[in-house]
Amino acid sequence: MRLVSFGEPGREQAGVVREDRVIPLHALDPAWVGGLKSLLSHLCLEELRERLSATQVPGVPLSEVRLRPPVPDAGKVICVGLNYVDHAEEQGRTLPETPLLFAKASSALTGPHDDVVIPQGITHVDYEAELACVVGKGGRDIPQEQALEHVAGYMVLNDVSARKLQSSERQWFRAKSMDTFAPCGPALITTDEIPDPHALDISLELNGEVRQSSNTRNLHFRVDYLLAYLSRTMTLEPGDILSTGTPGGVGIYSDPPVFLKDGDEMVTRIQGLGELRNRVRQA
Ligand code: MN
Repeated sequence: MRLVSFGEPGREQAGVVREDRVIPLHALDPAWVGGLKSLLSHLCLEELRERLSATQVPGVPLSEVRLRPPVPDAGKVICVGLNYVDHAEEQGRTLPETPLLFAKASSALTGPHDDVVIPQGITHVDYEAELACVVGKGGRDIPQEQALEHVAGYMVLNDVSARKLQSSERQWFRAKSMDTFAPCGPALITTDEIPDPHALDISLELNGEVRQSSNTRNLHFRVDYLLAYLSRTMTLEPGDILSTGTPGGVGIYSDPPVFLKDGDEMVTRIQGLGELRNRVRQA
């Protein structure tokens, strides 16, 4: 199923997409109020599917709603660096022996069709197409063989990065966390539709030109390993986002290097998950 958040920032409703319309979840069950994050840990897909097939509620055309990040109020956005062999090669580095983890602020999350806004004075901004998963049932010390059961669904995420700051400030937090630097969605695709997250084509086009093209089978550390590894030392909570890293073809390592500029359009796609379409705007 395709779960979405829609509406104006701060007043999002959770919904489910049927064909080209969005049905608000609270129209299916009055108990399903509140944002998607609060529903993820106990939403029963079977029940949702039954109510969806029984309902007469017409819903709203997708084209008339503003899609927001599926979980706009995620508690954590955990990211993985150097997690595709071709991305490590393009910068002359070897794959790490343990996951290279960093965070993005959840206030950087933005919708699948929203503008990416480069703040004044910031240059050398780059794109990174990534597969992200969203935690459903939280937990600590999750065994790797059960880790995928803790995933509510998958989505596309573009880990937009201000490269100059990323290298000049030794911590990556500010360079990765500017407002709008994490477009994601277009929906949270529930795990029943993605039997194997490690077999999905992933790509990014900039102004119609393919810049990144790979498959999630090339992930070095996989989703189940990463969730188990993280949960050994931190509690994973419903709505937490894990973005698994980007393949080769990012702008900074292109020859010549390419950076985002006002008016550019990025289309980020993952097989079975849909696409993000974001225009770049220089503030
Ligand atoms: Mn990244």
